[in-house]
Amino acid sequence: MLDLLSLKLALAVVTLTLWVLFLGSYRRTRSLYSSYWSAALGCWLAGNGAYWLKETDWNGAAVPFGNALLVAGAFGVWAGFRSLRSLDTPLWLLFAAPGVTAFAGIFEADPDGAWLGMLVYFSLMGVGMALAARELALLKSQASQAHKPLLIVAVVLVAYFGCRIVVYAVEGPDSEILRTLFAPAVTCLLLIMLLVLVSFSMTALNNHQLISVLNERAMRDGMTGLLNRQAFMELAERELAGLQRAGLSAAVILSDLDHFKSVNDTHGHAAGDAAIRAFAAACKGTLRKTDLVARYGGEEFVILLPGADEISAEAITTEISRRLAAAPAPDGLDFPTVSYGISSTPIAGPALAQLIYTADGALYQAKAAGRNRAFIAESPLDPEAAPLST
Ligand code: GH3
Ligand code: MG
Ligand code: MG
Repeated sequence: MLDLLSLKLALAVVTLTLWVLFLGSYRRTRSLYSSYWSAALGCWLAGNGAYWLKETDWNGAAVPFGNALLVAGAFGVWAGFRSLRSLDTPLWLLFAAPGVTAFAGIFEADPDGAWLGMLVYFSLMGVGMALAARELALLKSQASQAHKPLLIVAVVLVAYFGCRIVVYAVEGPDSEILRTLFAPAVTCLLLIMLLVLVSFSMTALNNHQLISVLNERAMRDGMTGLLNRQAFMELAERELAGLQRAGLSAAVILSDLDHFKSVNDTHGHAAGDAAIRAFAAACKGTLRKTDLVARYGGEEFVILLPGADEISAEAITTEISRRLAAAPAPDGLDFPTVSYGISSTPIAGPALAQLIYTADGALYQAKAAGRNRAFIAESPLDPEAAPLST
């Protein structure tokens, strides 16, 4: 009942439009996903174009070549989704499946590439879609909701090609079911739906990814990769509120590199930067994933240890200093020692500002007592202590 010619034309127009749009997007962004998606659309456009040659002198090559290009498009979609997970796809893998498809089609003497050619084509189309669906499912944990409709379409397509393979294998190319349920017109409709959905979702997923990257970058200190002060304050406030609800303890460490100015003065700013990075690396190597550490400013750093007391905090400062002293330093430079001030609370009640203020007082005492040491604030902070007035 469906007019195949009109549907094929509609498919060609939709593909061409999206191809032009994504080529533009690729030129602007040079993003890997848009290059794969443009390539996939280009393959589908060319593949469908090749089918039109069926009625010409090229009919022997038209179907195998067309099938190979459509399979290349399916694998291009897979590679595009992989790129959203920052995974590379070896080029040979992208050429292998279309190569096999073309070979199976040409190998088959029948100009329609029937039996073997079509079977390989259906199978590899299904494999390409299944791989794409798998990537989408793996993307799930980090991405927005945009992947959901796409995942459903990918699964429908895998099922569609799967059923087509079974019917084809069991009943052969002249099957009645193939001519009705799996008629080219139905495939055309499905492909139009797929094209629009993939284009929309890939753009949405990519935007989501870009926003995540920018968010992450805005929270980090460029030189050390540690949290910046603002991000630390926000995350630590949230963490303290959770600890308070759970009735757990917390400790804050404020640290400051000793005589750092003389490192800069004697060895130059680059050596000073190296010391700052080495200290950050020592912190990362020592702390757990659940701890928060930030560059508080210049050569000062702040750490929140959820669930810790002042004794374990002190042990952590010893380990950080040990790691820093053991780290390889630029020629002629000894990394500076570090002073630490520690504040703690048995139940995370006091405000973050108060914990930092108290740790700062202890740090001052560590400096006054000769540096290269940790100083624990006189007594753990009372959870009910009045908020610090600033
Ligand atoms: P103290 O032991 O009392 O802490 O002495 P100090 O010399 O470390 O203290 P001071 O606060 O006077 O010096 C800090 C120096 O850190 C001054 C500043 O030039 C330097 N500094 C701040 N940020 C950076 C940075 O990103 N890179 C480098 N190389 N130096 C920095
Ligand atoms: Mg300082
Ligand atoms: Mg200092």
